[in-house]
Amino acid sequence: MKTGQTGKVMWITGASSGIGEALAKWYNKRGWRLVLTARRKDALEDVVNGLERPENTLILPMDVSEFERYPESVDTVLNHFGRIDCCILNAGISHRSYIRETRFEVFKKLIDVNYLGTVAHAHAVLPEFRRAGSGHFVVISSMMGKFSSPGRAGYCGSKHALHGFFDGLRMEEYPNIKVTLVCPGFVSTSVSANALTGDGKPRGTVDRTTEKGVPVDKAAEIIARAVSKGKREIAFGGIEKTGLWLKRFFPSMLDKVVLSSKKNWEFDREEK
Ligand code: NDP
Repeated sequence: MKTGQTGKVMWITGASSGIGEALAKWYNKRGWRLVLTARRKDALEDVVNGLERPENTLILPMDVSEFERYPESVDTVLNHFGRIDCCILNAGISHRSYIRETRFEVFKKLIDVNYLGTVAHAHAVLPEFRRAGSGHFVVISSMMGKFSSPGRAGYCGSKHALHGFFDGLRMEEYPNIKVTLVCPGFVSTSVSANALTGDGKPRGTVDRTTEKGVPVDKAAEIIARAVSKGKREIAFGGIEKTGLWLKRFFPSMLDKVVLSSKKNWEFDREEK
């Protein structure tokens, strides 16, 4: 699918802020009709009010972990727009606490939102993509979907799982349905402030690394270009990209590098 095409329907989850909001602006500007999903209806309305063409959007507020709502939501979109061309499965929450200090419910929530919510969405839309003979799932994973980091294990596990599922889906539905896995490094959003701590409460502060990350509009542009090229998987970011290479060729060295930077683990310093 090329940018600049009009009339196609893009369903973006996690569209009420950050990367999802920036992607909504990108695609709206280029004439796509949008379905915008997140939990906060008022925040989605603010996003729509800020768009150049607000009339081309459908707000569909829901918690992505309300799995039973997907069949009805797909019907709502098809009744409204008559088609779905691409889903950017972006909704997600992060994690900041050691495993030993984290309640089990936090791991479950991370899996329900980041992994099963994404799987449920794709599973519900798949019959429509198969009927149409085409479609594109864009899954916002993370570099934490390729290697791990202390204090984020619940998040890392949920993002790693996405790769197993969606690599399988890509092969099963080749060549009609495309799957693009996106692995951002640090992007300047509120993701670290919204990250869950050990007791399930949001952390409330933005990491400096996240603050200094790729500007969110630039991230949206990088993602949109990869989507238009039908890329299989992309990663982007700063120095953290080195971790991908180390994990692949020298995994023990990656562990050593991470452990040697313990003094910089921001969540650790703040909690002490
Ligand atoms: P934000 O916290 O700004 O955005 C997260 C979005 O997900 C919000 O729109 C939020 O909306 C939505 N969301 C969270 N939980 C749910 C839920 N249960 N049901 C529906 N929607 C939900 O952070 P980002 O924009 O940075 O995050 C977007 C994606 O990018 C995430 O998957 C994240 O893991 C990934 N990512 C981000 C990186 C970064 O550095 N920023 C790096 C790597 C990956 P609402 O609260 O209204 O429900």
